[in-house]
Amino acid sequence: MPDKKLKGGLIGCGFFAHNHLHAWAEIEGAEIAALCDRDEKRLEEASQKFGIANLYTDAAEMLASEALDFVDIATTVATHRPLVELAAKKGVAVICQKPFAQTLEDAQAMVNACKAAGVPLMVHENFRWQSPIRAVRAVLDAGKLGEVFWGRVSFRSAYDVFSGQPYLATEERFIIQDLGIHILDIARFLFGDVTHISAATRRVNTNIRGEDVATILLAHENGATSICDCSYATHLPEELFPQTLVEIDGSRGTLRLGANYQMIVHADGHTQTFDVSPKLHDWANRPWHNIQESVFNIERHWTACLKGGQQPETSGADNLKTMALVFAAYESAAANLEAIDVRLMA
Ligand code: NAD
Repeated sequence: MPDKKLKGGLIGCGFFAHNHLHAWAEIEGAEIAALCDRDEKRLEEASQKFGIANLYTDAAEMLASEALDFVDIATTVATHRPLVELAAKKGVAVICQKPFAQTLEDAQAMVNACKAAGVPLMVHENFRWQSPIRAVRAVLDAGKLGEVFWGRVSFRSAYDVFSGQPYLATEERFIIQDLGIHILDIARFLFGDVTHISAATRRVNTNIRGEDVATILLAHENGATSICDCSYATHLPEELFPQTLVEIDGSRGTLRLGANYQMIVHADGHTQTFDVSPKLHDWANRPWHNIQESVFNIERHWTACLKGGQQPETSGADNLKTMALVFAAYESAAANLEAIDVRLMA
């Protein structure tokens, strides 16, 4: 007999949730049985597009009426804490979109609520699930570069993200909270946890409220140093949105994840080039397909973890460490690049 499918309820049917829904439709062990959005038009649109009939404008009502194994929260950050706490109270496992919280206190409260209720909690921190990033990690795991002493994770673009996500132009904090959070999480994923961080930020586009350029220096526990740099004000001859580029130097060689998913590994005097392009799912559209594939990958991971009783890689507790880097980066930037000790923060 095939395993019973896990039943999920999706809260927030906006811009990005359509990627969640497309990916869920392809996941074998789970399905979205109900949708919730306080905006009826968005709710109806998603219902029509994905053929899901159980609709709610109130999450508490959805949780009271449906027998759900998990909820997938795809609302913006201000509503994360009340919604996560609501699910925990109902004993329902939770996925929550990034940024997990606006303060470390909120993030910790959500982790505590889920722990006390005994429900799994995963933050939808999907960039580390991009297949090119997994390919980089596989090279490190194979030990080909020797001891890693330096890295760079870089995202530079002038893509108009504001038309799809207008709230990004009006938030006091922009690029570190929205995008840098992913870049910092990739740095943790590749080089390990961090002891100290320094950052400088700048706003180049005067039509938005927050910073759109950030340069961040990280000291890792294992002695490596890395740079995370991101910009939405960088006009390149070839627009690479939404590609993350990676450079790594180790004692035996180097790795470069360059434009268009070309990975060059030079180790022990030999150079190899790999095409690590992401899969183009049939519902995906370029140039977003890299991110869309990672949504599928993280949902598949969640489903396997929930069924197997394992902690997801980007559990709420794990994500506290990424959130600590985000807040510390802002603190450092406000204090003119002061080095912040993050070890005691999360
Ligand atoms: P959006 O504003 O387009 O959609 C949010 C939806 O949630 C809206 O339809 C809104 O009506 C609904 N909503 C808000 N509060 C609600 C509540 N209490 N109950 C029910 N519905 C509620 O936002 P978006 O651009 O889709 O972003 C959503 C989240 O996804 C954000 O946190 C954003 O940072 C994140 N995001 C992640 C990625 C990624 O790659 N991981 C990419 C884009 C956006």
